[in-house]
Amino acid sequence: MNILVINCGSSSLKFQLIDSESEKVSAKGLCERIGIEGSQLVYTPAGGEKITTVTPMPDHTQAIKLVLQALTDGKTGVVKSLDEIGAVGHRIVHGGEKFAASTLITDEVIQAIEECNELAPLHNPANLIGIAACRELMPATPMVGVFDTAFHQTMPEEAYMYGLPYEYYQKYKVRRYGFHGTSHSYVSHRAAEVLGQKCEDLKIIVCHLGNGASVSAVKNGKCVDTSMGLTPLEGLIMGTRSGDIDPAIIEFLAHKERKSIDDIMKVLNKESGVLGLSDGLSSDFRDLEDSYHKGEEAGVRTLKTFAYRVAKYIGAYTAAMNGVDAICFTAGLGENGPFVRNMICGYLGYLGISLDEEANCKRGEDVVISTAGSQTKVLVIPTNEELAIARETAALVK
Ligand code: ADP
Repeated sequence: MNILVINCGSSSLKFQLIDSESEKVSAKGLCERIGIEGSQLVYTPAGGEKITTVTPMPDHTQAIKLVLQALTDGKTGVVKSLDEIGAVGHRIVHGGEKFAASTLITDEVIQAIEECNELAPLHNPANLIGIAACRELMPATPMVGVFDTAFHQTMPEEAYMYGLPYEYYQKYKVRRYGFHGTSHSYVSHRAAEVLGQKCEDLKIIVCHLGNGASVSAVKNGKCVDTSMGLTPLEGLIMGTRSGDIDPAIIEFLAHKERKSIDDIMKVLNKESGVLGLSDGLSSDFRDLEDSYHKGEEAGVRTLKTFAYRVAKYIGAYTAAMNGVDAICFTAGLGENGPFVRNMICGYLGYLGISLDEEANCKRGEDVVISTAGSQTKVLVIPTNEELAIARETAALVK
């Protein structure tokens, strides 16, 4: 069955058409600047050239209309008609406590997602607009919602509660939720396959290190802790997000800089992380590595602080699971950054880890990068959230 996977942001929309039997991608692309001047569709059929069409997209319905036209185009399309698309899988950022698994989208489900909007005001409304647009254009096609938070719903209370007045949890559901769940689930299960073991028998730590970054502890196939919280701001130092800070810094800076809470939140989300720590040098780890190798203070300070924070979380999650069998790296930096992986693993001698330098330099494949004698295994597993969404969708639609 052909599954259309949609990841709808406020002004962008990424899509892939995946055959659920062969798990091959038949086409993929991106709509950019939806609702803004200069919008364009970038469409790439498998084995074909990238086609860029600059055309007005006043809203997401128009964007999806253009995607469907591209997929069914007589020359460059990959299906004859929309009837060949068996289902649509939507990535949804926040499922609150309502969704511990993917679900078929119904009117009731849409309402329940709407009720989570407050928890992800930038993302969930955009995801819902994508669902509404698809329903309008393909009313008979079943749709599935796959939530970033769902995999983390197995966290025990002691992992998800904050030390705040309990009434805020009762009234507003203020607690830790975690994100990147589809990736953490995919990578932990794939790691078990690569090791030839059952996920149910393993304690795995997944480090999803991209522009957004999070760590999770997966014990016997279930998430028991993760570093992001009520929002994706908590945890690791990210591209532009601060990660964990003393919450009193917000008040301190608001006074000193005469800024509003909104302004400070913008600083914490958009101007902090490795971008801020490197004094504005870059949020891209390639630039920071160059700077490090030149011996510049900015690069050295930033990478050391970043790697130390990741290593601290690995230590915490080893304690949370009373041990760890495997540590996995994934996402942009996790998959492509042997140098930073090495820096992080440098803190983990107590886990009996030794890296195979040659394996650590491989790219684009599932690979064990620890030596045969390494007490704890270390792996690089390229994440594939779209494939995971397609699998979840196919399983629910069948
Ligand atoms: P997201 O999906 O969160 O936007 P990605 O998972 O695509 O992010 O990761 C993007 C980040 O990966 C970039 O900011 C860059 O720092 C890092 N990255 C990509 N390629 C490399 C590389 N070859 N070496 C080091 N870092 C890399």
